[in-house]
Amino acid sequence: MKILLIYSGGLDSTSALHVYKDQIGLAVSFDYGSHHNAREIAMARLNCADLGIKHEVIYMQEVMSDIKSSLLGDGKVPHGHYAEDNMKSTVVPFRNAIMLSIATGIADSNGFDAVMIASHRGDFAQYPDCTSDFNTSMSIAMEKGTHNNIQLLRPFQNDDKREVARRGVKAHMIPALTYSCYEGGEKHCGRCGTCVERIWALKGLNDMTKYDDPCYAQGILTEKGEW
Ligand SMILES: [Zn+2]
Repeated sequence: MKILLIYSGGLDSTSALHVYKDQIGLAVSFDYGSHHNAREIAMARLNCADLGIKHEVIYMQEVMSDIKSSLLGDGKVPHGHYAEDNMKSTVVPFRNAIMLSIATGIADSNGFDAVMIASHRGDFAQYPDCTSDFNTSMSIAMEKGTHNNIQLLRPFQNDDKREVARRGVKAHMIPALTYSCYEGGEKHCGRCGTCVERIWALKGLNDMTKYDDPCYAQGILTEKGEW
């Protein structure tokens, strides 16, 4: 099977890149103008070069200019645990559907069999376009709407982020060569939702990532009994 991977350069999709490297013919990154896109994409380039996988970047800033999220423009990224209500501001409305549609067009045009997305079980809490219902509907649309009946692959749909990270590390992913932080700074902040989740997921996996404030995440996770 020839797979196109939607590849941000974050922890989950870098895991997918390593686990399925023998079947991935093209990795596509979307720069939709978020604070962290540039640093993520730098990591995506690095991992693809290392594995010899073709990589393309699609620049979406203009297309996304009327879509509102705290991840875009001068939006302020909330701190804390992912499941908290204020994390809803980090949703980029219909982002996965937009990326999947473009990726499916590329896949159908270039002889691919499938598009892979690395969304996992834990993504469902905040993101309506990561739910099982959404993905089932989207996979039908992709298959029925293409000449090559493009399949949607979600290999991590039943895994939490810790399991995703473990699978990636087992396939020789180096966590420090991925980027997650919504703030988009040189070092991961350690305070935003994705940093807190990342620190939780990488516990015990020899994470060499530099965080501004790793104690903040550990405090929150301890409070919730997750550390
Ligand atoms: Zn962060």
